[in-house]
Amino acid sequence: MKLNFALVIALFICTFSFAQTDEEIGNDPELTKKAEEKAKNRPGTYPVTDNIFMLKGMGGNIAVHHGIDGVLMIDTQFENISESILEAIAKETDLPLEFVINTHAHGDHTGGNKNFKRKGATILAHENTRDIMLSKMYKTAEQQALADLEKSIEEAKGISGSGEKLAAMEETKEELMIRIREQAQENMEIDYEQLPAISFQDDMLFHYNDEEIKLFHIPNAHTKGDIMVYFPKSNVIHTGDAFVNGMYPFIDFENGGSYEGYQRGLTTIMNRANDETVIIPGHGNLANRADVIEMRRMMKIFYDKVVVEYMMNKTEDQVAEMRNFSELFDEKGYGDGFITTERFLRSVYKAVALEKGRERDKNKRQTELLKKNQERAKKMDEGRQ
Ligand SMILES: [Zn+2]
Repeated sequence: MKLNFALVIALFICTFSFAQTDEEIGNDPELTKKAEEKAKNRPGTYPVTDNIFMLKGMGGNIAVHHGIDGVLMIDTQFENISESILEAIAKETDLPLEFVINTHAHGDHTGGNKNFKRKGATILAHENTRDIMLSKMYKTAEQQALADLEKSIEEAKGISGSGEKLAAMEETKEELMIRIREQAQENMEIDYEQLPAISFQDDMLFHYNDEEIKLFHIPNAHTKGDIMVYFPKSNVIHTGDAFVNGMYPFIDFENGGSYEGYQRGLTTIMNRANDETVIIPGHGNLANRADVIEMRRMMKIFYDKVVVEYMMNKTEDQVAEMRNFSELFDEKGYGDGFITTERFLRSVYKAVALEKGRERDKNKRQTELLKKNQERAKKMDEGRQ
């Protein structure tokens, strides 16, 4: 009885301290700021079909699919807005969130993973996406360890009489760095909560909420781990960042993205969709097949134009300043977002340089092979004489 009483008191205090009235919030500048922040970050709900809706806010677009079995969510935006996302879902359905799919590894699509995992959701992604997330964790740990090393060298510089020690440190810096890298990897605590629990290599088929949900890998497009999620019965596709609506796309070359792969991915999306398909892009407003075709057209125009400039020996900086062929799309606001016109032009230039470099290497290899064969034939001829 005593215990129950204590519990009631505790609950009362909890309720009291958490349920601030608007008036209280209004009087406290800290709370006002927090409430404003929350309101600003609250995602907007956009109905797509009877049982699918999009949540648009900070980070990548989320799709929520609900039905007889439960709730499946695509992408998780940022860590600090998970609560608002759950509130938005609760307004539409009281079924449990069972599955979360990550379309790719970037933080604006996976940042909230941990919070939803704690709510009992199982997270899935392509194997490469999990790899990218894991290697990013290693990189962060490594950078921290290397920064610590630099700091201790700097500190040693400030201490008198540390000349010898400092010289030794500088001398063995390379060696130290290798050891630090190894140690960082060994000692790193992997944040498993953030990582997908299930990963797959090619495609995957889901049977959920009386619908077959198809997960297709789009190789080397935005990253090396992109997937698109296709709901044939509902006629809806979530593309992740393999398609963004009305803005220049980001090609993450460092994580296996490629220009050609991105273009191929758009073709895959286009082929899956028909004129009635609702396309939920990674960023931007709800789209349709025509928007995907328009993006493909834009990418081809840019590539073809930059190839010509490249062949005329224009540098990356020169191309980055050109606006003669981007105008058409700049006017529609393509360069107003995260990827500016200049940034996009630089990535097109990079893609062209990579492709031309590959062609050059191939030609060189062929010439060398031809030369070798000619020499061999000559030797054989000489041997015969
Ligand atoms: Zn992304």
